[in-house]
Amino acid sequence: MPELPEVETIRRQLEGALVGQSIRAIDIVAPKSFQGNPELIIGSIIVGIGRRGKHLIFKFENGCGMLIHLKMSGQMIICRDDPADCLNDGDDPSGRLYDQNEKYTRVKFKISNGQELLFNDMRRFGFVRVLDQNQMQTLEEDLGLGVEPLEDDFTADHLSKLLKKKPKSLIKPFLLDQSNIAGIGNIYADEALFAAMIAPDRQAGDLSAGEIANLAEVIQEVLEKSLKLGGSSMRMYVQTDGSRGSFLDQANVYGKEGFLCSRCNEGKIVRLKIAGRSSHFCPVCQR
Ligand SMILES: [Zn+2]
Repeated sequence: MPELPEVETIRRQLEGALVGQSIRAIDIVAPKSFQGNPELIIGSIIVGIGRRGKHLIFKFENGCGMLIHLKMSGQMIICRDDPADCLNDGDDPSGRLYDQNEKYTRVKFKISNGQELLFNDMRRFGFVRVLDQNQMQTLEEDLGLGVEPLEDDFTADHLSKLLKKKPKSLIKPFLLDQSNIAGIGNIYADEALFAAMIAPDRQAGDLSAGEIANLAEVIQEVLEKSLKLGGSSMRMYVQTDGSRGSFLDQANVYGKEGFLCSRCNEGKIVRLKIAGRSSHFCPVCQR
């Protein structure tokens, strides 16, 4: 599932390409993937594209909005004037990561500059939802998301307060809970816990002040690093031009089951289910 760095990468690319334009028409290929009244946003200028956690939020001049969640396999692909330009092979020798035949295209947006924006979603868990002015006003409350980890208000103090509210929670599921911190999923939770040398099954209330301060710092470092690398591509995530992100090439634990730990050179990375999600960690140097 695309996490904060992937959604933020897409957001930045969409922002660069679409702000100042408007949507001329919407072709709803799969009604299940589209909610709300498309007429509310057609013709209104896109004034901003924001992100909250793993959600993309299009903002229109008329006060309406469009919320998009990519869930497991959603993609936002910008097709340039010449459709051939968007058929990017990426780095994947097995072929294109997104579907050039538009087999999984659920919604097509015709943009005022002649480009086409595709919402592709093989698994169909993602959605596009048009929001009226009132829904935009209450969106923050309705989403119920926790702090943004790359914002200034995410500090060791803040993290410490959050952890104290749920002292019995294991740290891994705590990090995945979007109402605590928004945007962290399995990859970055595992990588951050590795960087902080904290075992994923430690209890939240059990972490020392030093560990908490370190954890807050490495969460930001791991997310920033992935942002620089265009995110993590496994399965379906691609950038808006169809190219992959390369963070996973540099991951320490995620997808490294059985490999020797790059830090202690002693432990072998294990994969274990913790609170229903697979966790990757070094049993020797993560305590
Ligand atoms: Zn180790």
